[in-house]
Amino acid sequence: MAYSDKVRNMYQEQLEELKEKGLFKEERFIHSSQAADIEVEFPRGSSTKKVINMCANNYLGLSSHPDVIKAAHDGLDSRGYGMSSVRFICGTQDIHNELENKVTEFLGTEDTILFPSCMDANAGVFEAILNEEDIMISDRLVHASIIDGIRLCGAMHDTFKHSNMKHLESKLQLHSDKRLKVVITDGVFSMDGDTAKLDEMAELCEKYDAMLFVDDSHASGFIGKTGRGTHEKYDVMGKIDIITTTFGKALGGASGGCVSGRKELVEMCRQKARPYLFSNTIAPVVVSGVLEVLDSLTASTERRDKLEKNTEFWRNGLEEAGFVLKKGDTPIVPVMLFNAKLAQEFSKELFDEGIYAIGFFFPVVPQGQARIRTQISAGHEMHHLEKALNAFIKVGKKHNILGKSKQEIIDMFGL
Ligand SMILES: *Cc1c(COP(=O)(O)O)cnc(C)c1O
Repeated sequence: MAYSDKVRNMYQEQLEELKEKGLFKEERFIHSSQAADIEVEFPRGSSTKKVINMCANNYLGLSSHPDVIKAAHDGLDSRGYGMSSVRFICGTQDIHNELENKVTEFLGTEDTILFPSCMDANAGVFEAILNEEDIMISDRLVHASIIDGIRLCGAMHDTFKHSNMKHLESKLQLHSDKRLKVVITDGVFSMDGDTAKLDEMAELCEKYDAMLFVDDSHASGFIGKTGRGTHEKYDVMGKIDIITTTFGKALGGASGGCVSGRKELVEMCRQKARPYLFSNTIAPVVVSGVLEVLDSLTASTERRDKLEKNTEFWRNGLEEAGFVLKKGDTPIVPVMLFNAKLAQEFSKELFDEGIYAIGFFFPVVPQGQARIRTQISAGHEMHHLEKALNAFIKVGKKHNILGKSKQEIIDMFGL
């Protein structure tokens, strides 16, 4: 028997080890729509509890917005449920093309190609446009899906220290002999909530004749004064050669992603990117929802403006209470606890107070950097934020960490 007791035991031991180290991730079942208020079954088998969601990527509060739901219903009625085909056989509808054009306009690029997800966009794009003569130079903290895309590509690879422009410049000099150079970064780094210095990066890319790639999954729809993304914030719209992003976060939160940028690069993806060629694209119902989202964000900045105000209130509140935060100005606000078990416990106790915020620890963040990552939404009203803040303060007091420095917390709980 192939799956022998010996093999089974080996895996069971590995899973036990994760639990002992406090690294085991358990999913919580939500019995309602995604929103600021959700109904959660936790622990498993218990009756559901109404809690405030403080850890969704629902930045603009659009995941269950009535206008988006209506547009999705209309799409379902007019274009059906499934495509039963990949794009190039018989899986392309007019609305897929319409969405590609709308994204192009929204991001201020030349052209766009949809992918089943941003994970797939990142997995497919590098292999489609680079070969062994080329070099990919990536920030050391880029998203896991970019790392997978780099692995799948035959081009050479090097890294630069996180957001360190001197180091990036030295790598661009080091690789000046390569055919093509691509500098690769996230726009907003999802674990820390900081932004890439796209103005300086664009300048360096110009100077050293490199292309610039930005994954703006945690930015599209709300970063920049009209929500176009990190390139708007740093005033480099039109200068990013490749943008990848997701529709699974702020832009309705369902699923889907894209590569947007120089038109030849997009066309290369259409011809060669494997997740595009060999996997169904976004379902019509989701395409219809995203079209509505982009129309509404183009018409008004009300939602991203509210998100900005909510974020300011939340950051200031936590800071004044004496928590150690990661500095930044995005709606990702990590409350640092350093110890993985403490982060797990803190999250459980917040839940008892009616607040849903999950602990993050290795391997999602480096060892010794466990945290509760909070994420603010335009779907939050002031009463949500006030209740959440009071709960954080109550649990923080219980563990005696308010006003304590990083070193003091580490001394108390270990790493
Ligand atoms: C969430 C995320 C992705 C994956 O997006 P999906 O569309 O859910 O696959 C890719 N890159 C970054 C930076 C992300 O944060």
